[in-house]
Amino acid sequence: MGRTGRTRDNGYLQKTLPLDLSQKQQQFNAAMERFHSMRIYGFFGQIVSLSNVSLQIYLLYRLWPHSIGIPWQAFSILVAYVLTDFINGLVHMFMDNNDRYDSVTGPLIANFHMHHKIPQYKRNKLPIVYFNETGSKVWLVGYLLAVSLLLEAGFDPVVLYTLVYIGILSSVAEISHYLCHSSSAKTSIFLGNIGILLSKRHHAKHHLEDNTCYAFLNGFTDPLLNLIAARLYKGYKKTTDLHYLQYVVTADQER
Ligand SMILES: [Zn+2]
Ligand SMILES: [Zn+2]
Repeated sequence: MGRTGRTRDNGYLQKTLPLDLSQKQQQFNAAMERFHSMRIYGFFGQIVSLSNVSLQIYLLYRLWPHSIGIPWQAFSILVAYVLTDFINGLVHMFMDNNDRYDSVTGPLIANFHMHHKIPQYKRNKLPIVYFNETGSKVWLVGYLLAVSLLLEAGFDPVVLYTLVYIGILSSVAEISHYLCHSSSAKTSIFLGNIGILLSKRHHAKHHLEDNTCYAFLNGFTDPLLNLIAARLYKGYKKTTDLHYLQYVVTADQER
């Protein structure tokens, strides 16, 4: 944000909103208008959800006959857990700092930022949350297709199990984030407190502070993600979080 808009008043130059901020707010509002008025964006989300869930089921079904034994299964899940937390944190970091609202993907980017404006989700059954929230994970479709190719190529089953678990846990991370914001059930709080899912206390830093704690499966990789974020980005509090300030949410647009 370099330039500053100025108006002349009583002979004095008075600062108004920075021009870039004003433009970004208009672009954000226009992108959200497109998101809600063009049915293609809602349809696209449904197709992404359907593709991701179908590929997750297909890969698990294809891989299950290849037994690797309990110790290797435990190893695959453990490695996948850490990598999922990190990869999804990286994607979250990229999206939170993305302000290309006037691009074709602009409506999806603007809608992604709504998780800061309205952190609370609409209450829903967990399988529905799993399906709906998986619709924002466009990258996961490409990832799961790539894993399908590796499976056809006959890669090592331990590697394949790890990759497939990453593909599934990436959707579980959405559940973890949902529970963190929208559940006060004892089980979800317990799972958050013991570090299997995201704890409310840990994730609160992402919303209260700036450019921090992007991970949302359990937050284990946040120390590394925070170092990367500090090197790559200025943060969202003084950038993208300001872009939605002029956007008015109607009741039917709530998450
Ligand atoms: Zn965020
Ligand atoms: Zn959150």
